[in-house]
Order: sequence, then C-alpha cells, then structure tokens
Amino acid sequence: MRNKKIFLSLPQQSGFEEKYIQKALKDSWITSGGPNVNEFENKLEDYFDNKVSIAALNSGTAAIHLALILLGVKSGDEVICQSMTFSASANPIMYQGGTPIFVDSELDTWNICPRFLEVAIKDRIAKGKKPKAIITVHLYGMPYKIDEIHAIANRYEIPVIEDSAEALGSSYKGKKCGTFGDFGVLSFNGNKIITTSSGGGLITKFDKLKEKAIFYATQSRDSAPHYEHSEVGYNYRMSNICAGIGCGQMEVLNKNIILRRGMHDFYKKAFEGIDEVTVFEEPRDDYFSNYWLSTVLIETNSDKKIDRESLRLAFEHENIESRPLWKPMHLQPLFFGYPYYGEKIAESLFEKGLCLPSGSNLTIRDMNRIEKVIKTFFN
Ligand SMILES: *Cc1c(COP(=O)(O)O)cnc(C)c1O
Repeated sequence: MRNKKIFLSLPQQSGFEEKYIQKALKDSWITSGGPNVNEFENKLEDYFDNKVSIAALNSGTAAIHLALILLGVKSGDEVICQSMTFSASANPIMYQGGTPIFVDSELDTWNICPRFLEVAIKDRIAKGKKPKAIITVHLYGMPYKIDEIHAIANRYEIPVIEDSAEALGSSYKGKKCGTFGDFGVLSFNGNKIITTSSGGGLITKFDKLKEKAIFYATQSRDSAPHYEHSEVGYNYRMSNICAGIGCGQMEVLNKNIILRRGMHDFYKKAFEGIDEVTVFEEPRDDYFSNYWLSTVLIETNSDKKIDRESLRLAFEHENIESRPLWKPMHLQPLFFGYPYYGEKIAESLFEKGLCLPSGSNLTIRDMNRIEKVIKTFFN
C-alpha cells in the first residue's frame, strides 16, 4: 500500500469555524455581506492594530483588481509588477486593459529588485509614459526590500499595491506586511496561511476607500430605493459563510505562523551540511517571514546527479508533493512581448528553486518521511 500523500500546503480546520457558520445558518444569513463579514473585518483590523481599514472580498485577485480601479488605472496605462510571482498579481492589470511592465527579483528576498525598478521607471518615463502603479509581492511570506522600494516609489510619486497574499503575519522592522503600500492585498485561498475556503482582503489607510471598495464589490449601487447605477460594478464581496470560516481561522493564525516557522527550522536541520542546497531565509533581523512555504535552492551537481528536478522526482516517488518556484511572468506565454527589466535573477531562481511541504498540519511521521527522502537522495 502506498503511503498517504503529503501536500505542499493544505487548509487546516481550527474547530472554531462551526459556531460562526451555524450562527449564519440559524440567522438565515447565507448571502454575501452580513454579521460574520463585519466580525471578520473587525478581527483582521484588530490583528493590524486598528491602523488600517480592511474590506473582505471573495478573493485576493479581486482585491488587486479593486486596488487598480481605485488608483484609476485604465486601458493603455502601464503598471509595474514583480515578474516572479503567481499570475494573480498580474492578471488584474489585463482586466483593466493595462500594460504590465515586469521587473526582475534580487537575491536577498527573491522579490522586486530596487535597481531594476528604478531603471524601469526611468525608461518608461523617457518613453513618454509614467507607470500608474507598482505591484510588489512578499513571495513565500518574505518581506521585500521595503525601505529601498518605497523610497523609489515615493521619489517618483507612484502608488504601491502591496501583494501580501502570501505574507499575512510577516513583518519588517516590526511593522506588519500589508500596511506599507497605498493598498495591501490579502488572500484566504485554501492553501494560504489561513483560509475562508476562498476569499481576500483589501487593506487601505482610509475608511472612505474601504467604503468605495465595498461599493464597487457590491455592483456599485447608488443610493436609491430601486437599483440605480452610474459606475461599473463587480460581484466581489465575501459571503457570510466564508467570513464565518475566517472568524474561526483567525483564532489559530498565530499558532499557524509558529508551526510554519517550525517547518522552516525542520528544513534547516534536514539540509544541514548538504553543499548543494541553500534553505531560503530571512536576510537580516529586520525581516520576519511567516514562512508560508519553505523553499530551497539546489545547485546542479552533474557528477552526483543532483539537481532540482531529480530531487522533486525523488519526493514524488515517495508520494510527497514539492513544486518549482513561481515561473516568472515575463516567461509565461500569456505575457510574451511585454517589457521586462532585469538580469535573469528570477529565471535562475526558477531553475534552481523548490517549494517543500510546509503546512501547519504536518505530523512527525510526515516529517520523518520527508527527511528520509532527503538523506537517501543526498547520500
Ligand atoms: C494566492 C495569491 C494571490 C491571489 O489570491 P486568490 O485569493 O487566490 O485570488 C495573489 N497573489 C499571490 C502572490 C498569491 O500567492
């Protein structure tokens, strides 16, 4: 019999979800919006020390789309986006008919490179178009170079959409990720650090913008007894049932962060003394990662038949899921031909990098199985 499959990142129930869902069912409040939605937003805002306003939406992708709309991004506008990311960071630029401009990563955090960000901005301005926004990402929970990136964005007065979908619970110099940009984005998709089954959040610094986001997310209804519309609307609001799951999940967020960080420590030990492997980690004390996923870089060693793909296959053989890092957007068929600024750092990370099982529900037995593959493969 085959061992049970170990996944990269599975949702884990806290046990607290049911009471909120039961309440929603009992109150017959099973549509979008509702008391759980308000409570979930309150819990999230509390988590961010009530320094921001958060609109609960039905996905992180919707949050990025609304951020672009609120920033006035229209057809033909250019938007800079970190190339190495999940496609959901860049797709909303296309929804708006905008042009994505991709920028390479740097090696310390794997996120948007300050040097090439500035090269890109200068070149776009020289070509006659100033970018309307910059989409930055905290990949795998690792904060990007906040000080450098925001200094550049401020200098050129370009707003930042901070895609914090993977980084709920991460922080930089003690300040939580999601609060650095003009807008922050959260995701509660099934594989994220907490889940609402499907959902997202838009973080803003102003109640007015939260209200406007909710207005767009609920079909842009003007105030009137009948349905009156003067702007394009979207069906992006979170449902009361999903928010109930979110309320329950908030009770285990801190625990999940500790467990995910524990997985990172496990991999540090497991790969100790293996020259070909570098476990991705915080470059300095300023950085605090939730380690949503633990990741490694593997240098090819042809003599020993070691490379990223053969390690991935060794895991697969034991029914353990691992996955190459995000394939950079400028290498995706969808985005061929759009401008790209960089020097192939993201490419080389993609070639060498692997994401490893990192869920908060992995057992000691799972870890033993993972460790055994590593020991066997590198001996
Ligand atoms: C998950 C994710 C998103 C999108 O979130 P959804 O809730 O799945 O729409 C956006 N950006 C990044 C980097 C993500 O990992």
